[in-house]
Amino acid sequence: MYHTMDQVFGEVDRIVEDNSGFMKMTPLTLTDNDYSATVKVVTIEPGGLSDDHSGKLRLLVNFGEHGRELISSEVALMLMHYLAEPAMEVEKSVLRGHPRHRLATLLQQTVIKLIPMENVHGRAIVEAGSLCERKNGRGVDPNRNWDLHWGHKEKDYDPMEEYEGPKPFSEPEAMLMRQLAKDFQPHVWVNVHSGMEALFMPYDHVAKIPDGEAAQATLRILEQLNTINCGGRCAVGSGGKSVGYLAHGTATDYMYDKLGVPLSFTWEIYGDEKAPYTDCFRMFNPLQKKQVDDVAANWASAIFTLLELLPGHPAIPKLKVLHPARRGAAEALGSDAEEVYNLPGEKIAAKLTQKIEQSSTLTALMENRDTDFIGDALSSTAALSQLGAQYVWQHFGFLLCILAVVMVGLIVRSFYHHQALWVLKRLKVPRRSRVIPL
Ligand SMILES: [Zn+2]
Repeated sequence: MYHTMDQVFGEVDRIVEDNSGFMKMTPLTLTDNDYSATVKVVTIEPGGLSDDHSGKLRLLVNFGEHGRELISSEVALMLMHYLAEPAMEVEKSVLRGHPRHRLATLLQQTVIKLIPMENVHGRAIVEAGSLCERKNGRGVDPNRNWDLHWGHKEKDYDPMEEYEGPKPFSEPEAMLMRQLAKDFQPHVWVNVHSGMEALFMPYDHVAKIPDGEAAQATLRILEQLNTINCGGRCAVGSGGKSVGYLAHGTATDYMYDKLGVPLSFTWEIYGDEKAPYTDCFRMFNPLQKKQVDDVAANWASAIFTLLELLPGHPAIPKLKVLHPARRGAAEALGSDAEEVYNLPGEKIAAKLTQKIEQSSTLTALMENRDTDFIGDALSSTAALSQLGAQYVWQHFGFLLCILAVVMVGLIVRSFYHHQALWVLKRLKVPRRSRVIPL
């Protein structure tokens, strides 16, 4: 029902290999004394692998930080499958009322780095039979080892569960993750855990969310995710306020506070609160195959939902890549790309028509009634249609043709009424070598 650790990485390698044009694997290794840890990072860039991620939306998504939460890495595998073939997610997006190209366009400008299983040593201990283990290979909780309010202890502090280590960043796992985040500078950090159903944002170490509009916008995103992907069941808000305890030295607080990751989350994707305290497997992981598949599918899908909800958040950069048709329209209109992106098709059509009608070149030519204006008008039309690019021709070619015919009609009419008559009159007059006064 669950993949073993070896099977998880076997499948990860296979998916990366099958999609090598836009996925790659980078193992990061660090050794401290005789303790060595490797964090395998999968980079997924649906627009094609590149070295420069500065212009893209950057998501860092972490799985398997606690050994006993097997379900977390199942989500990682499903997410990789969905990113390899996102057609079904595009359909879901359309059902939610988004234009068909929107998610595909977003994916083209996104790079996701995901860690299928951060804590491999902890996982090995679980697979050896200690089903309650959450810490790393030398007894430190990787999610308490970060240097943000590190080492503070609550009254119910239990070192068996959450030993924070001898000093901040004493553990290779936490150090590797910090370095990865520093280099990648993600806009979004998602740490996928299990034990309950919750969507947490900072802070974990105090029972409140940060002040300001950006944090409120983040909270609204979580509320929508709760509706779409959690059936409204998830606890939403500050980890410290909602989880039932304060947690110190967590990755999510550090990412937000020290590394400036604006949208920093811990998602708790499954929990069985009725499970006896000692039955860790049941407490943290679904027991039925169908439920495993459903949870994995739902939370893999939630990453796409999140992606859809990001534009408009004050900390998320404006979109730079648009659907080719809309990009053409934006150029023709000389207006803000995102404004055009958000307009319905018929509004863009109306704006383009208006633009063409108001074309100063054509107006001037018509007023001057220059004898060359047929050629000028035609080349102006060509220039405009080039500006309007695919959009005009693909979607409004018909309209443009009618407009062109009307223009030519007007031109021809004025030609005959004025210039042509003058020319024809001249033709009737016998040619002379010079103009002779009467
Ligand atoms: Zn956990």
